Amino acid sequence: MEILQPLDELEWIPRPKVLALRRLGLETAEDLLTHYPRRYEDRHQFPEFPREESDTPICLCGEVTKTRILRFGGWKKIFEATLQEPNAHALSQPLTLRWFNLHYVQKMIATGQQLVVFGKPKLRGKRLCMDHPEFEVIEHDPAEVGIHFRRITPIYPATEGLSQRVLRSIIHRLLVDLSDEPLEILAPASLVQGDRRKSIHAIHFPESWAARDKAREYLVLSEFFAMQLLIASRRAEASARMGESHCGRGKLLDKFLAGLPFELTAAQRKVIEEIRRDLAAGHPMNRLLQGDVGSGKTVVAIAAILLAVEAGFQTALMAPTQILAEQHYAVLRRWLEPLGVRMSIRTAARQEESGPLPLFADGESPANARVSRATGARDDAPNIIIGTHALLYEAVSFSNLGLVVIDEQHKFGVAQRARLTARAPVPDALVMTATPIPRTLTMTVYGDLDVSIIDEMPRNRGKIITAARDESKLVEVLAFLRKQLEAGRQAYVIYPLIDESEKLDVKAAAKEYEEWRERLHPYRCELLHGRIPAAEKQEIMERFRRGDTQALISTTVIEVGVDVPNAAVMLIENAERFGLAQLHQLRGRIGRGEHKSYCILLSSDKSPETEAKLAVLEKTIDGFEVAEADWDMRGPGDLLGTAQSGLPGLKIGNLKRDAQLMREARAAAMSILAADARLESPENQRFRRLIVEQQGRTFSHVS
Ligand code: ADP
Ligand code: MG
Repeated sequence: MEILQPLDELEWIPRPKVLALRRLGLETAEDLLTHYPRRYEDRHQFPEFPREESDTPICLCGEVTKTRILRFGGWKKIFEATLQEPNAHALSQPLTLRWFNLHYVQKMIATGQQLVVFGKPKLRGKRLCMDHPEFEVIEHDPAEVGIHFRRITPIYPATEGLSQRVLRSIIHRLLVDLSDEPLEILAPASLVQGDRRKSIHAIHFPESWAARDKAREYLVLSEFFAMQLLIASRRAEASARMGESHCGRGKLLDKFLAGLPFELTAAQRKVIEEIRRDLAAGHPMNRLLQGDVGSGKTVVAIAAILLAVEAGFQTALMAPTQILAEQHYAVLRRWLEPLGVRMSIRTAARQEESGPLPLFADGESPANARVSRATGARDDAPNIIIGTHALLYEAVSFSNLGLVVIDEQHKFGVAQRARLTARAPVPDALVMTATPIPRTLTMTVYGDLDVSIIDEMPRNRGKIITAARDESKLVEVLAFLRKQLEAGRQAYVIYPLIDESEKLDVKAAAKEYEEWRERLHPYRCELLHGRIPAAEKQEIMERFRRGDTQALISTTVIEVGVDVPNAAVMLIENAERFGLAQLHQLRGRIGRGEHKSYCILLSSDKSPETEAKLAVLEKTIDGFEVAEADWDMRGPGDLLGTAQSGLPGLKIGNLKRDAQLMREARAAAMSILAADARLESPENQRFRRLIVEQQGRTFSHVS
């Protein structure tokens, strides 16, 4: 047999098991061999039964001495099995295993059986219980002892209809059958030491923990290498595309900067220079601009836009929400119309063109005349098109598009970015994100982009103070809020309707709003949520921006981008329901002016998770610290959504724990491509196939 053989061609695997394997996404022998254990049990020797409860799960072995079924609440059932220690003595205590409403378990467990169980022992009354432990029935087949017992035993991600035991036996047999097949080595010798076959064997059936660790390192490095090779090749491909300079001389930019009511920060200036160099270069720009909420990314985007406009190109600015697109449109009109720049907005709800103001104040033309000669486009074609996703999917005709700016990139996917820039001639692309992500993630998720970071906040920002409070303190919080309104500040109240796509209970929202109106009387407040028609939403935001209303009772529709400097208080109800990153984004709506700002997190949830989460926000306003903490608490799952990153998922590597290995793999991939960009040399051919294969896996994810 060979490694790519489909599993349904293997006669010795029972058909129902083939179907179960397919449910796990396993189609070929290779899929199975890379179906790595999620943990291991050292079954050389089992510990004595515990006498106390514990928060870490333990692995025990014993004999079932009794089973029973308890019914409660009509149809609900508890299945209990009593497990006795093998060499029970006077002091040993049996363990009660319990399963709630799990029909199939009671069919699998019977008195007299020996079981291996894995779970947390907890005191329930006087009994020590394990609820819903993982378990395996021991069958006394001597031939299989070396596979399942007296060894470090692998435990796999499994599925219904496929027990650990069966899955383990299949993988074991496969390893034996494949032991004469050549296995292609998929990582350069400079990166990995050891042998792929041995590593795969040892990751499933390690002889020792050290052997497991060594095998794991080999496989993680190989996996990371494949990923970084894909990223590096994408990057090489992008910069090999023919581009052209999209950079004007900068007079328009200077004029804009001279009119700004503030000085740029050093970080903003540095980043603008990086962008200017990219715009002027012959190859297309692919740049990520990272900067915490409120660090002033919009001004940088405008700078890039003006450089391209001055050179005679059209530009596009894409935002994830209509509210944000409208805000950009308003800000850009205010700042740029006096400079003679024309813009239009395209959202699903609205199309409008501003202007026309064909001439610059001093009679200089923004080289638009050149546009018309070169492309035959209308002389008054907008210089900037601002919009939402509508820019991608509706027939927006660009003329001479030179630069695409995508705001809040994390709200879009890679595919959408590609869609906007995949045209000839190739426009430059600047993507911006306020989601600070840990560096190892940056070099993965955004590994094909150059990165600029704004690591400095504008001066004269008021401090943000964050406090978590129990919901019972609402009265005090309210008094505080009113005092702030009295002092002339404005406030957001975020109410806990999490998912905007869920059908909104308009009545509940209206009720919420009525309550707040009373609480805040005589200050004016308005209600804002995703179900309000676009035009009305826009008017509500406008009234808030002008200060006509003092408080906005809102869902998370204001989560990204919204900028109202006088809004200095944010009250978040049911804060436990939001994720850390989202709370940080929300909080980013305040502290945008010179006023001291306050973020109050209301929650009556006393769970350790919630308390830890809210404590992070009380402690720091630094987005990177928040991101790291978020990562520690939750893992990078969300950040690495496959549609987002456009990368195949990881099977064994862990982006946080294995950060150093990622760095090594990245260096190896880059050096191979630097020496042989098209992977033409004989020893590099195999890497070309690796890229193709990775791409296959990626696209099946994205679709
Ligand atoms: P974000 O990075 O979150 O998109 P914005 O671009 O919306 O932030 O900027 C936040 C606020 O800070 C805006 O009101 C903007 O005008 C202001 N701002 C930007 N740069 C500076 C600066 N250098 N000094 C003072 N205020 C600034
Ligand atoms: Mg912004």
